[in-house]
Amino acid sequence: MSRVWNFSAGPAALPEEVLRQAADEMLDWQGSGMGVMEMSHRGKEFTSIAVQAEADLRELLAVPADYRILFMQGGAIAANAIIPMNLIGGKRVADYVVTGAWSQKSQKEARKYAEVNIAATSEASDFTTVPPMADWKLSADPAYLFTCTNETISGVEYPFEPDLARIGRGEVPVVADMSSHILSRVIDVSKYGLIFGGAQKNIGPAGLTIVIVREDLLGRAMPHCPAAFDFRIVAENASMYNTPPTYGIYIAGLVFQWIKRQGGVAALEARNVAKAKLLYGFLDGSGFYENRVDPACRSRMNVPFFLKDESLNDAFLAESKAAGLTQLKGHKSVGGMRASIYNAMPLAGVQALVDFMRDFAARKA
Ligand code: PLP
Repeated sequence: MSRVWNFSAGPAALPEEVLRQAADEMLDWQGSGMGVMEMSHRGKEFTSIAVQAEADLRELLAVPADYRILFMQGGAIAANAIIPMNLIGGKRVADYVVTGAWSQKSQKEARKYAEVNIAATSEASDFTTVPPMADWKLSADPAYLFTCTNETISGVEYPFEPDLARIGRGEVPVVADMSSHILSRVIDVSKYGLIFGGAQKNIGPAGLTIVIVREDLLGRAMPHCPAAFDFRIVAENASMYNTPPTYGIYIAGLVFQWIKRQGGVAALEARNVAKAKLLYGFLDGSGFYENRVDPACRSRMNVPFFLKDESLNDAFLAESKAAGLTQLKGHKSVGGMRASIYNAMPLAGVQALVDFMRDFAARKA
């Protein structure tokens, strides 16, 4: 068997230990005589898996007691509709901060359900920065303010937590799409009304959506909101109103245990800082490659970069692949290259990428 260094933006590389454990348990989960995919979601075996996964996630992110953790389906794109359907309540307007392709898509979808106010946007800078909170123009009485705290495509990450109390608007719940950096850094969950993310980057297989929601935001769904997507109904049924993505929850649970063995989120954050420092430091010093994101807002998870001579792009991709470094092609809307270096990517993988890039530059310059 030989595994590559996989820099995919998602679905993305998972910790090898997790994949090995899942393989070992595939036919017989802990003496039950069946695999997790074959279990009833209401049986005692799967119930114990789901309860443990939720408890571990709660511990890892220090989720306060008045927040519910929901295991849902539909991914972050479905959440773009499910969130306004659940949170508009008696209000008319939702505020959005647009910092890249994902928050752009989110605000477009929300317009089907609410009036949208763009509180701030970094479109003028081609989504290479995050507008400072002092410049955000919230509407008078929004149902919530939406943010995407790590923009996977342009590689822009909030260098601050969007704590609206700092601009005197602490009463407005903050919603955050954390699909591509959840569990990569320490956060203060109490600063948010709702945090959500698709699992397929830092957590596990595609198909599972994590929602962490403050209890007072439950029970506001529009009458036509599907029951399976009504946060109150999902919460009241411990994420088992409909059949949940059982295998995704199981793998997520193994990843949570892996994170605990690594020392928790703070330990992973320190590793992620070191990985990002290595890669950005190399890019900035190379003269051959460049990253165009405001240095203060560079994502630790998704690193887009360009070869200054773009005629070498095809050679770069072919030779990196031959060297066992895969999925480096940039998103089609941005071009160039992108290395996604989520929690499961060790420093050694980033070092292998930097070594290859240095060698490639030396040969082609
Ligand atoms: N939001 C962010 C920040 C993402 O990175 C992605 C996927 O890459 C999405 C939303 C869309 O997620 P999904 O395809 O799971 O609906």
